[in-house]
Amino acid sequence: MKKYLIPHEGNFYKANLHCHSTISDGKMTVEELKEAYMKEGYSIIAYTDHSKYVPHNDLSDEKFLAINSYEEDISDWAVKDSRIRRCYHFNCYDKDPSGTKDVVLPLPEYNDIDGINEYIDRMNKAGFLVCYNHPNWSLQTLDDYGKLKGLFATEVFNFSAYIDGIDGNQEVPYDSLLRAGNRLFCVATDDNHDNYELGHPLNDSFGGFIWVKAESLDYRTVIEALEKGNFYASMGPEIKELYIEDGKVHLECSPARRITLTNVGRRSEICRARKGETISSADFTVDPDDKFIRIQIEDEHGLRANTNAYFVEDIL
Ligand SMILES: [Zn+2]
Ligand SMILES: [Zn+2]
Repeated sequence: MKKYLIPHEGNFYKANLHCHSTISDGKMTVEELKEAYMKEGYSIIAYTDHSKYVPHNDLSDEKFLAINSYEEDISDWAVKDSRIRRCYHFNCYDKDPSGTKDVVLPLPEYNDIDGINEYIDRMNKAGFLVCYNHPNWSLQTLDDYGKLKGLFATEVFNFSAYIDGIDGNQEVPYDSLLRAGNRLFCVATDDNHDNYELGHPLNDSFGGFIWVKAESLDYRTVIEALEKGNFYASMGPEIKELYIEDGKVHLECSPARRITLTNVGRRSEICRARKGETISSADFTVDPDDKFIRIQIEDEHGLRANTNAYFVEDIL
C-alpha cells in the first residue's frame, strides 16, 4: 500500500517564509510585496521583519495568506566587529491567526545555550513555530547550533545569503542537526530585502520557497500542513509525487539531472541522467538502518529541491 510522504490530495501553495518589508530593513512595503509575489505565483508570505511582531491579517484574502511572524536576533554582542559577529536568527511563526499575542520575551545571551533553548521552548509554548535561519550567513558551526532544541525547521537554502556571495545552500547544517538526533523540517526562503529593484540580477526575491500541500489557504489549515511537514523546499524543481511502497520510496518531479537519497550515514542512492538528457522519477530502497531519509533533486541549471527528512521508524 502506498504511504504518501507528501499528501496526494490537496493543493500546492507557493510560499516565502522569510521576508523583510519597510517595517524593518526591507525596501518594499508589505502591500508591494504581496502584489509582486502573487504575480510570481506565490500564495503565502510570512512577513518576518526584524524583532518586531506586526500581524498582517488585513492582507489575507481568498487568494493570499499572510502568516504573522517576525525574526528574532540573539547576537554575540561581545564581538564589536559586526562583520565577524556570530548570531542566532530565529523566524517565529504564530500558529494562531488572531495576531494578538504579546511576544516580547527577554532574550538570553549568545553563549547561554540553555537560555536559548528556554527561549525557543517559551516561544513554542506561546504558540509559535520556530525556524533556525541561515547558519552559514550567521558564521555558525555545529558548536553553535548542534545543541538547539525545539525547532520546527531550519533553512536548507537562503537566497539572500546566496545573493550576498555567501553559500546559500545549507544542507550540511541540516544533515548535521539530523545526524545529531534532532527531528526538524527544512525550508528554502528568500530572506529578501530588495535592495536592488525586482528583476535586477542582485535582487533577492523569488529564489527560495516552499510548496505547501494543503486543502485550502485557510490560516490554521496551512499552519497544520507546516506542522505535519506537508511541504518541500525548492529553488525551482517541482515534486509531483512522493510516496513509499513495499520499502521503496518513489518520487516524480520536473526534469532533473540528478536525484539523490541521503540518510544518517554514508550509504546513499542516486539516479543521474546521461549527458544532455533529464530524468523525472526515481525509486530508492529504504534500509531500516537509514534512520532518516531525505531526497534532493538538482535540475540542469543546478537549482535544487529538498524534501524534508522522514524518519524510518515512521515510514517503514
Ligand atoms: Zn536573519
Ligand atoms: Zn531575515
